[in-house]
Amino acid sequence: NISNKKVTVLGAGISGQGASNLAIHLGADVLLSTNKKQSISNLISDKINIEFSHSSKCLNSDLVIISPGINPDKVNIIKQIATSGIPIISEIEFGYWFSKSPIISVTGSNGKSTVVKIINDIFKHKYKKVLLGGNIGKSFCNNVINELESNTKSLIHILELSSFQLQKIITFKPILSCILNVQKDHLDRHGNFLNYFNDKMNIIKNADDNSSIVYNQDDIRLNQYCKKYKKIFPFSLKNKNTIYTKSKIVYDNNSNEPIINQKDTKLIGSHNLQNILAAVQISKIFNINNKNIKKSLINFNPLKHRMEKIEINNNILIINDSKGTNLFSTQSAINSFKNKIILILGGFSNEQIDSNELVNIIKNENIIKIVCYGDIGQQLFKIISKHKESIFKKEFSKAVHEALGHAKKDSTVLLSPGFKSFDQFNSFEERGETFKKIVYKYYA
Ligand code: ADP
Repeated sequence: NISNKKVTVLGAGISGQGASNLAIHLGADVLLSTNKKQSISNLISDKINIEFSHSSKCLNSDLVIISPGINPDKVNIIKQIATSGIPIISEIEFGYWFSKSPIISVTGSNGKSTVVKIINDIFKHKYKKVLLGGNIGKSFCNNVINELESNTKSLIHILELSSFQLQKIITFKPILSCILNVQKDHLDRHGNFLNYFNDKMNIIKNADDNSSIVYNQDDIRLNQYCKKYKKIFPFSLKNKNTIYTKSKIVYDNNSNEPIINQKDTKLIGSHNLQNILAAVQISKIFNINNKNIKKSLINFNPLKHRMEKIEINNNILIINDSKGTNLFSTQSAINSFKNKIILILGGFSNEQIDSNELVNIIKNENIIKIVCYGDIGQQLFKIISKHKESIFKKEFSKAVHEALGHAKKDSTVLLSPGFKSFDQFNSFEERGETFKKIVYKYYA
């Protein structure tokens, strides 16, 4: 019961505003504290106090909720809050305290948004209300308010969770958790891979005999970690489990009945077959029938900027995978094509490049040319040029023109940059949209 309690929310982005809304909805005395100049337009009450610089008021709280965008090790006031013994929790933990409905949570380095969007569609066949939230851009706490105000019991939460959202988890225990893969990402904030891995694994920190765990068995580290749990549902591109795959068709192992053929969907690449497997496995645990699973998968439109085909009337395949923001997503994008690839790679990073890893990825024999661009482009070019035909063009638009200039019949121009977009763009979406504009103009 947090009624009349002093609750401070740190960070005023989507999560912070959502947490403030839930706290005020439950009768708390709320302070929303941010140190960024930003517009705050999604609050449900003007009784929420706002400050634009963290003050000592934060120390006068019964509970502090921290947003995923804030690095707890970098903000001074958080150290003081911790020292004074005030409990600090995440927005996800806070929402969980007040939700009474089942929660499905999905994490992983790559594929989260795709999987939650697919299951969001599939679960509409079973539940009147499917509330999708978390890292997908919608606050879980706002969804919990929606749940509390709703009069249906046929309601389920689906949560996409990043490693940052899984920090400061205490009791959070979803009925089902899915872990897609864990590969190096965000090490600038986590410091090292082990910290990142452990934060991801907080998703099953409180799992008990009733908590189902769906995970990718082909990820060796993940398999090692998850197999000790009781109610596990591994999925694999190689092994037979409760579901399995052969020639891109997903089968039910009980009946040997085919559930879905990847070729009937718009999802490209073996990484997307893994995403399909995960979604089918989750749906089967909730007894959703094969017909409805198949229907949703066939109708599913892949998200923009993730292996998005740009329709141009010629024999060149052009792919916008601007959301490929780490090298492992780029690797899965490269592996999705059998024809010649011209790859656009680069962007922004404040992490050390692992040259062995990079060389391993770009060695793929289908790649005929790599155009390196952006802040990190020169550094990439230095490593890559010893192994592949490559060129450096700092400016994104010049890099794209260069790549298109080399495209021949039956080749693929692939923008799967492997790094963040912030050197020349505000977001991966802006980078992807710019890419598409340049391509359309080029072929106009
Ligand atoms: P996330 O939400 O985890 O960032 P997305 O579904 O938005 O994942 O996909 C991001 C990028 O990761 C895509 O552009 C694609 O290149 C790659 N990707 C998607 N699914 C997987 C997967 N299962 N394994 C590896 N890479 C993937």
